[in-house]
Amino acid sequence: MEITILGTGSIYSKSNCASLIIDNNILIDLGPGVVKQLLKQDYNLKNINTILITHLHSDHILDFPTFIVNVEVLGIKHKINIYSPKGTKDKFLNLVSLLYGNYFNDFINKYLNFIDIIDNKSFIVNKYVFKTKKVIHTGIDSYGFIVDSKLGITGDASLCDGVKEIFSESKVLICDCSLINGDIYHMGIDNIIKLLKNNKEKIVILTHFRDLTKEFIQNINLNNVSIVEDGYKFMLEE
Ligand SMILES: [Zn+2]
Repeated sequence: MEITILGTGSIYSKSNCASLIIDNNILIDLGPGVVKQLLKQDYNLKNINTILITHLHSDHILDFPTFIVNVEVLGIKHKINIYSPKGTKDKFLNLVSLLYGNYFNDFINKYLNFIDIIDNKSFIVNKYVFKTKKVIHTGIDSYGFIVDSKLGITGDASLCDGVKEIFSESKVLICDCSLINGDIYHMGIDNIIKLLKNNKEKIVILTHFRDLTKEFIQNINLNNVSIVEDGYKFMLEE
């Protein structure tokens, strides 16, 4: 499994929006700039067959119209499964209609297959088993994932039971660390330190930073924790 972290920033950051791609075909979140980031890194948008949307905030979805405009022109001939919170299809159709009228409606209906995320359910994507975990990101439905019982992805989350379960069921974690001190929306460095006390053997890659948080954490030495830049790539054994 090859994982590329396309963006490491929160909505308040100069880094790219938090997003990642597994192998060359499973995209997780689609915030502003993600399509350009994929193109810069020589990914072929035509290969993408699955998109997972953690939640419907702007820094995780607003490149959806740009993605549609690109893949329509490329002439994709396969369905793209979009695992996303309930209600996503209507919201995405409205978003695209706002910008382009009804031009893309037939394309979206023909090639995009929206599947509601259900908490604590497993589903197969390509050769991997994805398990969903509802996390608390106050004010909106938000989900994390566990991939093949190895890779944990918290999505945007405060320190909650869902995050604790993602930690306990994964070996390597890509983890929200927006803040210096966590709140009801996002985890902070304090929460990461607390999680690590009970999960000493885990490897943690932090993401979704505010710029101030990233500056702050560079001066702290945490075992098994990586602070990476946009475009960071790593392999996990299958
Ligand atoms: Zn976010």
